Amino acid sequence: MKNKVIIITGAAMGLGFAAAEELASKGAKLVLVDYNEDALKDALEKLSSNNNGLDAISIKADVSDEEQVKNYVNKTVEKYGRIDGFYNNAGIEGRQAPLTEYDIDIFKKVIDINLMGVYYGMRYVIPVMQKQKYGRIVNVASVGGIRGVLNQTPYVASKHAVSGMTKNAAIEYGKDGILTNAIAPGAILTPMVAEAFKQVNPDDPKAAEAEYAQRNPTRALGDPKDVGKLVSFLISDENGYVNGQTIAIDGGESNLY
Ligand code: NAD
Repeated sequence: MKNKVIIITGAAMGLGFAAAEELASKGAKLVLVDYNEDALKDALEKLSSNNNGLDAISIKADVSDEEQVKNYVNKTVEKYGRIDGFYNNAGIEGRQAPLTEYDIDIFKKVIDINLMGVYYGMRYVIPVMQKQKYGRIVNVASVGGIRGVLNQTPYVASKHAVSGMTKNAAIEYGKDGILTNAIAPGAILTPMVAEAFKQVNPDDPKAAEAEYAQRNPTRALGDPKDVGKLVSFLISDENGYVNGQTIAIDGGESNLY
């Protein structure tokens, strides 16, 4: 990873931040993108204090806004001249409700961020990678991108779309040295998942968490650090031939019948 230029969206916390820690420890140059400016600032400070000599910048952007996506891509090229890896990770869960009762505005917001945000990112990063004849893209789907998840229709729709767009990017741009894959995390304990357990059991979210963990073949929730390690492989030139895959990282849970 030494000196590779990697953009990470949703970098301020959760899976984005965990990957940033992993990649920073391996010497990558990082462009941290998030719409939460305060959390982004804290994230950059923490990464810099943990990694001597880290070369990183942060850019505030909402990934659902095409102009802001163009801007973070342009600023990266201005600063570093290239983009080796793109961790297209920012996303939200939305609220939980049955399909027929789902709030339409929240539905559209989930699609704007999780689907359009991932699309805009690839739309503007891929031309830069084409010129280099090299690139690695890791999109973030979900187990909800390969299975249904109760009460999360727009999330499931958006994550299936991420998996589909990953296949298309892979077959259209493999010829340019660009490998595009998606990861499909199960329940990994990040702020987003902690919030979901609050919705399942507002009085005792920890009980909801323990109950959920019992369903997993490993009897545990995932650790963001494990996801960071998978991303680090897929986004590096250690990955020479994996292209167009959606790789579950879920303790095996999506195999349960
Ligand atoms: P999180 O809420 O802990 O962190 C998400 C980060 O993305 C935050 O810093 C947030 O500010 C940022 N973000 C959200 N919307 C944004 C936008 N429009 N523009 C810019 N930044 C934005 O969530 P997480 O658990 O780390 O999830 C990261 C990704 O992983 C999401 O796409 C999520 O759907 C996916 N995922 C997570 C899990 C899990 O178990 N944690 C499972 C499956 C998929």
